[in-house]
Amino acid sequence: MAIKTPNILPGEKGYVSKKEKTTAKKAGEKVTRKAVRKQEATIGKIKTGAKGYRLGRPSTSPRKEKKYFIWRYARKIGEIVVSNKDTPEEEVTLKFNRLGGIGNHKHLIQDVDFQKEWMIREQELLMTQEKCHVCDKKISRAAKPNLYHYKMFKKRTDLLERAALVPEEVLKGKLTIEEGWEKFNDILEEGNRYYMSLKDTTLVCANCAKQKNLNE
Ligand SMILES: [Zn+2]
Repeated sequence: MAIKTPNILPGEKGYVSKKEKTTAKKAGEKVTRKAVRKQEATIGKIKTGAKGYRLGRPSTSPRKEKKYFIWRYARKIGEIVVSNKDTPEEEVTLKFNRLGGIGNHKHLIQDVDFQKEWMIREQELLMTQEKCHVCDKKISRAAKPNLYHYKMFKKRTDLLERAALVPEEVLKGKLTIEEGWEKFNDILEEGNRYYMSLKDTTLVCANCAKQKNLNE
């Protein structure tokens, strides 16, 4: 067995120990990983912004869409879906999705103060409203009241339309992804604020409440 003598021996000028080599290699890998992440966070002309929400690493769906989850601390709060259309211009489409959805306002009623406001509104209407807002049947004062947001469907539709315009502003570079996400989120949050304001609420009879799934 031949023993290979290193060109530079320990203690000589230019000698690099195994430990130093490993450290240098690791530093190099770290730089590469950082560059890859930076590249992954760049979506065409879309700017990700410097702070705020954290974009996860992308995953590619079978439909060749790139999906980035938006994280806030350990919680997934949304996702951004980027797809390249198969056109010569390579047009990029961007979609924001808020996880937890929009229109699921029922969880809001867990708020104790809101519950109180809700009951006050019900009692107020029981005193003044005689007939069901939908079918005109007499409202029973003995039965459990059913409070209904009669403009909620329209409100939701309007908000979704407005929210759907935000990704376009990001694609044009007017907003960073974070600014876009915040604007998008705020528009949807307006639905919750509207719901909690109890504006445009009325009583409906038990039958109409059942049809509208109010008590589910
Ligand atoms: Zn009715």
